[in-house]
Amino acid sequence: MTDVNDPAEPDQPEVTAGGNRWIYDHCPLCGATIPSDTSPGFADRDGGTVEFRCCAECHTLFPAGANEVDDAGAETTRQADYHRDLWGDVNLEQLDLLASTASQLAWEMAEHLPPPSASEAILDIGAGRGNILHSLARLGYPARGCEPSSFLCQVARAAYLLGPEVLANTDAETYLSRVEATGTPVSGFVIWHVLEHVRDPLPLLRRCARIGRTATYFIELPVAQDEDIFPEHLFFPTPASLVRLADELRLSIEHLSVTEDRRLRVFYRGRDPEVVDLADEGDAATAAGIDLAAIEAAYRALSPVFAHFVPDRAGGDDGASADDLDVEVEKAEIGTGGGGR
Ligand SMILES: [Zn+2]
Repeated sequence: MTDVNDPAEPDQPEVTAGGNRWIYDHCPLCGATIPSDTSPGFADRDGGTVEFRCCAECHTLFPAGANEVDDAGAETTRQADYHRDLWGDVNLEQLDLLASTASQLAWEMAEHLPPPSASEAILDIGAGRGNILHSLARLGYPARGCEPSSFLCQVARAAYLLGPEVLANTDAETYLSRVEATGTPVSGFVIWHVLEHVRDPLPLLRRCARIGRTATYFIELPVAQDEDIFPEHLFFPTPASLVRLADELRLSIEHLSVTEDRRLRVFYRGRDPEVVDLADEGDAATAAGIDLAAIEAAYRALSPVFAHFVPDRAGGDDGASADDLDVEVEKAEIGTGGGGR
């Protein structure tokens, strides 16, 4: 990912303290310096413990880790190898289950998209085994995408007969450069369990914003809880991170939730510069009528890491770290003024 105009772009120096290795010293979503306050160890997927830091501006959570990978290209290779190993023994039964879940998801996405006949391209960035691509195509959407792992592309081609013109075996940066160069109109981006694997996600999202100005973004992320804490998850955005990101990228929030299967999901839409948007006058959560405190409570219930850094203030805790967040202050003001929008 190279974008010389992006202040958050330069390779971030790795910080080592007390045997911990910190990949980030600045938050890759909001650019703020990450405080050096370190949490106690929290249980990870593999039976170990991992210490965390937290962005004071947007509450993104950063695990410590033994990360030997220093550049973005090597990171993409490492991530592709990881997913090949994880899904190497995939069988038809699993693929059927995935297809069923993806089919349900495609119907939910369709509620946020123009009808298939009026839709421009839907791009699945990091399409994995191709199940979402396939489900969107079955609804009639012109869906295509990219996947850096050649193994996963082979699985997708075998399972769903996806040709290289539909699923390109390449990384997101190369793929989006190509899309941008050809001027392909885009109605939607699917970024499903991908951002947390990307060392520097903001340039990728900014490029998407240039390609599809009023496109819909379908994004899902893991929650910082034991089963999802492992070295390939480089950081964990929280509900407030996603509100902050919407303002940063001038996106409207169409949906924000912690799902029943314990993931963090956000659907954004690019704000049309021709249309006056409520979000331009305040924060994206307020404009969308999002109850951020309730969503954070749901996240907190799943994530002891989040509870550590952003305790529940209603529960009598001082919760000083939550006071840094303008969104919550704004929300409180609206609550007392009775001006629900
Ligand atoms: Zn941040």
